[in-house]
Amino acid sequence: MKNLFSIIICCILGFNIQAQCLTDEYFQKQLMNNPTLKNEIISFQKGVQSAGHSLKNARASVRIIPVVVHVIHQYGPENISKDQIVDQIRILNLDFRRKNADASSTRSIFQNVAIDCEVEFRLASIDPQGSCTDGIDRIYSSLTNTATDASKLNPWPKTKYLNIWIVKTIDDNVAGGGIGTVLGYAQFPYPGSGATKTDGVLIRGDYFGSIGTASGNGNNGRVATHEIGHWLGLFHTFQGGCNSSFPAENVDDTPPVNSANSGCPSSRNSCTNDVPDLPDQTENYMDYTDGKCQNMFSSGQKDVIDYTFQNYRTNISTTANLKATGVYDTSNIALCVPKADFYTPIVNVCQGSQIKFYDNSTRGKVANYTWYFENGNPAIDTNKNPTVSFTKAGPAYVKLVVANASGKDSVTKVSYINVISNISGYKTPWQFSFEGNTTIPSELTAYTTTGSNGWKLIKTNGYNSTSCLYINNYNNFNAGDYCELTTVPLDMTTKLAANLEFFLSYARRSTSSFDNLKIFASSDCGLNWNNIYSKSGGKLETSTTLNSSFTPASAADWRREKIGLSGYQAVQNLMLKFTFITSGVGNNFYLDNINIGGYPLATTDIEMADNIEIYPNPTNGNATIKLSETIYNNTRLILVDMTGKQLTNVLLPNNTQTFELGNIYNNTLSKGIYQLIFVTENGSVSKSLVVE
Ligand code: ZN
Repeated sequence: MKNLFSIIICCILGFNIQAQCLTDEYFQKQLMNNPTLKNEIISFQKGVQSAGHSLKNARASVRIIPVVVHVIHQYGPENISKDQIVDQIRILNLDFRRKNADASSTRSIFQNVAIDCEVEFRLASIDPQGSCTDGIDRIYSSLTNTATDASKLNPWPKTKYLNIWIVKTIDDNVAGGGIGTVLGYAQFPYPGSGATKTDGVLIRGDYFGSIGTASGNGNNGRVATHEIGHWLGLFHTFQGGCNSSFPAENVDDTPPVNSANSGCPSSRNSCTNDVPDLPDQTENYMDYTDGKCQNMFSSGQKDVIDYTFQNYRTNISTTANLKATGVYDTSNIALCVPKADFYTPIVNVCQGSQIKFYDNSTRGKVANYTWYFENGNPAIDTNKNPTVSFTKAGPAYVKLVVANASGKDSVTKVSYINVISNISGYKTPWQFSFEGNTTIPSELTAYTTTGSNGWKLIKTNGYNSTSCLYINNYNNFNAGDYCELTTVPLDMTTKLAANLEFFLSYARRSTSSFDNLKIFASSDCGLNWNNIYSKSGGKLETSTTLNSSFTPASAADWRREKIGLSGYQAVQNLMLKFTFITSGVGNNFYLDNINIGGYPLATTDIEMADNIEIYPNPTNGNATIKLSETIYNNTRLILVDMTGKQLTNVLLPNNTQTFELGNIYNNTLSKGIYQLIFVTENGSVSKSLVVE
């Protein structure tokens, strides 16, 4: 396995292991949950021992295993291609048949025990319902992230198929102890090793196969070889250490190994109590060495695999099952009707911007594509992955029809694309104080990698107020999970000071927690994002580090942040995105009073101020506003109350000099001081209005 981490933990077995394959930890959990499993292992190992090498004589021919690969994905890189899946099956069939090109690299001392396991893998062509399949089952789900047994969606019957689940990342905490980056894990075949519905192997997409997202990782597709070895009953070569503590590996032609090997050692002899004393068999697929340095199973391991087929996985390779799953005769596999699906990574798009759509159709190979785009340019396209722009603002549907010689299928995604007008209807300055809201305002879109525990509006805290946004980051996330908060596009052409201001409150859980707040800006409706702010750890902190769930106690626990947006001052569509990236061991985060575009400029233009009259002032409600001729065209008026809340933001009619405030803002103004901000092509000016 790839030498990713050397995080050493001491586990129940009494030896140290390195984290890459989680099968041991997973197995320990099963042992704790199921006391009879220990006896099952003992009886299994006795059975293998007494049957010995006679087992292979009981086998008629090569055993074939029907395979289904469930790809759990969110249309990201974990949604690996069919070519990559087929490449992994190819590698399995080389490794388990000892046809691998690097078989000659097995050292001469082990050449006589290295063996063809006579196991072959084939992608199923009939699914459990008897329908046509290509053995690949693509499922859209956020459970692809930090995957656990819960990510093993849509299992096919374990007596008929080897279930392989492909995910993006794996929870290193599956068995209760964080052990670092995990590439895969398997469920053993013995009764009590896990639930029927979780039987199979789970592997990261970027370690499945040797091409596509898995190219160049140094493992050459051997993570699957290793995990399927477990699924067929094999323990690690280092299981039990030198002294064969329970449950020992129990294979007589793999020398004892004290602890997992890593990388590509030229030679290591970690146990000297074997006779004759042989070095560690680091080229064995069941050690933790890099896949590129592994090249063999042993004859004794083949006995274990045979015993598993004869006692536990008894149905899977029978002729009847091979016929039922459509892998018996591969010379004449039917072409399935394709199942239409597609995606684009960008669903919010500026009017006129080009975006690319991607075919994600499954089952049978597609011969013809026909795409339909509402208000699209083009409106119809026959490419596999077309590039399209949209001519009209508003929601747009996309439809894809796919066909081949066996038939056709279509999918329509209604309102799939949100086309944003060239000039946003949301004028700046724009403020979110959250005081009047019970949920997150619709102008803000929240997203969380885990699907839950992300941004929430709370009514129990805030900066000098009782509402704000909050992330319950204490104990709810794994390192690298993140929560995004994205604004609608905002029109920045009103030429006020271009600033982003907000208040935040945060305490670290410990001085080593590095939760990170990043802010990004986009002027093309989210196609491209620039990072404009990043603070983490002590730089982000506003209150004392606290090893319990953090709540701000007073205004002193908050900090105002001000970020210049000068590069975006004239932008017609500015989107901002707050991204809180958790360290997995962090604390709660609070956000309040987001203010985009900036309130009155400090630099009042005296001459311009002289050209605006407001009377009477003080007033008991209404007032008359008179503009001089020099500034009266294309002037915007923003009315702001004492708390900074924007009451109205309107363009005043051209060629008019005198306005009644009551006609512009027709709600009653209660007593207080208001700011009237006049924004013109030449700058802006603020005037106070006192209501008595
Ligand atoms: Zn393993």
